[in-house]
Amino acid sequence: MGKVSVGLRGWRFDESEILRDEEFKPLDEIPLDARQRLVRLTTLIDKPCDACYLIHGESKKANCNRARVVYGEPGEEVLLCTDHEPDFIYWYQECGGSELRGSEAFADTFYEWFEDGGRAPEQFGGIEHVETEPDELPELPDANDIRERLEENYEPHQIDLREYADDTSADSTADDDLEEITTSYPTDE
Ligand SMILES: [Zn+2]
Repeated sequence: MGKVSVGLRGWRFDESEILRDEEFKPLDEIPLDARQRLVRLTTLIDKPCDACYLIHGESKKANCNRARVVYGEPGEEVLLCTDHEPDFIYWYQECGGSELRGSEAFADTFYEWFEDGGRAPEQFGGIEHVETEPDELPELPDANDIRERLEENYEPHQIDLREYADDTSADSTADDDLEEITTSYPTDE
């Protein structure tokens, strides 16, 4: 059993922790850290790239590329399109981003850097892993089915989906569990 991504590249899951016979396990059988990220992913899959959004803003949201990759912790994650992933990697590797790994300031500091004009230099080549991924993945349910499938097995009295997935509450409610979470950062690849 290997590592897989679901919906977006970046966050990696142990196949054996989340899947059985190529189907998602019921939520309550999935370990907490993987469960949090999985549930969080269902709210992120259709979102625009954060960097595009900083450029275009809410009024021109339609001009943003769809996010393809997620880095950081659930609730403090950064979403990026293929065009802007190099900028994030450059910030992470060369501009102090890695020192903020796991910090609450992680995403905001990247946004500030990007808004101040921070970009990867033309010749920056920090993302060789980009092309290697998709073909190696096993057959997974369509990304957009994830929420449906998870909710099929979801038992409300045991797990409150909103605790993990809601934008406004994630920061405060998820913090206690964040230390347990193993999440992807560029250097993990
Ligand atoms: Zn973008």
